[in-house]
Order: sequence, then C-alpha cells, then structure tokens
Amino acid sequence: MGKEICPLNFYGQKRSSEFEDKVEKISKKCAVYEQNPLPSTIPKHILSCISDVWKVFPKQDECLSFISHSKLDLKAFSCEYKLADAHGKRNFLAAHPHLLWIRLNERPLKERCFYEIITSGSECKLYFDIEFDKRLNPELDGADTVRIFMKCVEYYIRVHFEKEVKIHDVLILDATTEKKFSCHLVYDTVIFNSNIHAGYFVLNIVEEITQKRVPSEVISAKDLSKLIVKSVSGNSVFVDTSVYSQNRNFRMLYCNKFGKNNHFEIGSDNEFTPDSLKYPGKTLNESYFYASLITNIKGKPNILTYAKVNVPSSAVSKFHSNKPKFSGCSKSVYAEIDDFISSIVQPGYIRKWSLLETSIIYEIGGNYRYCERIRRHHKSNHIKFIVNLKAMNYHQECFDYECKGFKSSSVEMPADIINWTDEDDFAEVF
Ligand SMILES: [Zn+2]
Repeated sequence: MGKEICPLNFYGQKRSSEFEDKVEKISKKCAVYEQNPLPSTIPKHILSCISDVWKVFPKQDECLSFISHSKLDLKAFSCEYKLADAHGKRNFLAAHPHLLWIRLNERPLKERCFYEIITSGSECKLYFDIEFDKRLNPELDGADTVRIFMKCVEYYIRVHFEKEVKIHDVLILDATTEKKFSCHLVYDTVIFNSNIHAGYFVLNIVEEITQKRVPSEVISAKDLSKLIVKSVSGNSVFVDTSVYSQNRNFRMLYCNKFGKNNHFEIGSDNEFTPDSLKYPGKTLNESYFYASLITNIKGKPNILTYAKVNVPSSAVSKFHSNKPKFSGCSKSVYAEIDDFISSIVQPGYIRKWSLLETSIIYEIGGNYRYCERIRRHHKSNHIKFIVNLKAMNYHQECFDYECKGFKSSSVEMPADIINWTDEDDFAEVF
C-alpha cells in the first residue's frame, strides 16, 4: 500500500468549509461502499445501463404523455390483471423493453397479459393480425393460407416499394387454439412512418384480394379464394384491418389474453431468426421478443409511406371514417364486441352497426328477435343491442312500435371482451 495523500494536505489547508464538508461526505460514502460491496449478481438492466423506470398509469394518455416528456428510452405497454372480484382491468406501463422482458419472465405464463402500444406517429414494422374460426372453415389449413397470403404481400411490397422480402424476413407468431386460428406476422425489414400508413397499405392488399385482382401468375385463383374465410358476420379476407388504429394495443409474444391460455409463441412455420448483431449477448428467446415488438426499430432503415389516395375510397370507408360517427355492415373497429354480439344472437346476425360517441348500436337481422319486454321473439320486427363502451355493458331495445322507448336491463360484458376494448383507442380512432 502506498502512502495516501490527504486531500486537505494536497489542496492546502486554506480551503472553504464548504469544501471540507464535501470531502467529509465523500469519505463517508466511500466507507459505506467499502463495507457494502455490490452484490455478486448485478441485475442485467444495471449492467446494460438501461433505464430501470417502471411506471404504471391507470390511463393511457397519462402514460404516453409521461414517455413523450421523458428523455429516457421508454416504450408504452399495457397490462391486464385480475381485480379482487375476478374481473380484469387494464393498466398502462412506461418501461424499457429489456426491463419488461425481465419482469415478464418472473411471472407465471397465465399472468403475462401484456400488450405493446403502437403509439401514433411512431415508426413501425409492417404487421398483420390473421384469424379465422376453425369450426366455420374446417377445410382450411392455416399455415397453407398464411403462406399464400405472404406471397401476396411480397408481391405488393415489390410493386409499391421495389423491395424484396422473403419468408425469412417475417416473424410468424402463433396463438392458435382448438377453435380459432390466430397468428401475427411481423415484417422486420418493412418499416412504415406510422401504423396509419401501414394500415392503408394493408387495406389496399385486402381490397386487391377481395376484388380478385392479384395476378394469377402470383397466386392462382384457387389459392386466392382460400384467403376469404367464413365468419359469423359473413365472408371476408382473414386479415383484421382494425389493428391499425392510433395507439393500438397489440398483444405481444409469450403473452396471453386475460383469463385465457392462448399465448403467442414462435410459429412452427417461422423461418425468421433475429440478427445477433442487433441483439448482442441476448438469448434467442429474448432476441425474438425484441424483434417481435412492432415499434422496436433497429438501425436506420428506409422509411416507407403509403398515402390514403392509393386506397379505393370504398375500402377506406369500411376501414375508418373521419366523421365522428360512422357505421357499416362489415366489422366495426371492435372486432371482439362484434363477435360477442354475433355469438349471442345466433341464428341471427349483425345487420348493421353504428358507432356513436360512447356506444355501438347493433341492429340484428335474421331469426333472432327476442325482446325482453314481451319475453319472446317478435314475429316480424327486429331488435337491436346497444353496447355502452364506457360502462362496458349492453342492453336490448326494439323496433316494434309497441315497445317504443323500452330498454332492457343492462348486462355486463364478459371480462375478456372488456380487456380487448380500450376507450382511449376508441376516442382516437382516426
Ligand atoms: Zn319488443
């Protein structure tokens, strides 16, 4: 040990008392650290110098505002959890993805109910949510139809952006259950300036498929027809076009819907492998997790735009509307609520939906005319269901003159539907 130099001797004795105080404080701290060395296992997030901020908000806009004012590299997520009464609730989280990865692994699988918030204006990867009811489409092979669809997407990316994309550029996630085929596609090398532009591009592809305009040398007519699937509300392309709304909550890899056991995992057909240079020192599972995040963009990619003018107006009106109120005959922006209402009105169907400020009105067609006032089906007049998006309950009203002004008692929406709706998402829908 060399002879230690006392700072007071080194700088001379005539120093201010302020300086002496500082030296004393530092000496005390040194003593504390000497007595309490750092633990041998330092949490990874400290080693990698990432932010350990983990801030939970009850409201999405508070969370997004916090992130936009923070200088840290945080992302927005949402999380569903169980309340004491067994109902679910969604909270919003500001954290670095790496910290979320650590916390996610500390939880049992069934409690991993996390969603990435695809914040409006964020650059994002091209992504798809594909699903169909297996019971209504028993002849369809999910993996086969996804391959056909990916060929279509490849073709339109080449046509519009002169860019080559192959199957190994696309991360395939799968959450298929016995009843429902469900997969996400994440195009790692196709980056849009926002999910709104990505949505217009997707809408154009869906329209081309619907109108059977995909060239037969790309996809045969027989294969193309496989992409149009049966659902309780009619036949349509199996792509969910409602997932491109602003601040969309998008379920993540290894995560379940609340109360369900249907977590996304790497699809058996997936050929994408994360680039180890982008995720140095990470395990393969962890790298897949980062690669699956829609707004986690690495490097300086070429940013694509796709304007609304490229999409036929008829398709746009189905997709969204600039008017505060809108309605339609195909799916509303609340696919899960549509499916739920469809399921309770069998053998009837949703004839029309109208979105108001805080509610959706579903007019029911077909052979379901049950009216709670008369406690039986009407002979010819139809009924409607009104879903209150704030209270998350629904009631029935009637078109029959005799039942004018009648409102049935309100029934709460099932917990898993509540978790799929998001009033902030609603408020900012285009
Ligand atoms: Zn009635």
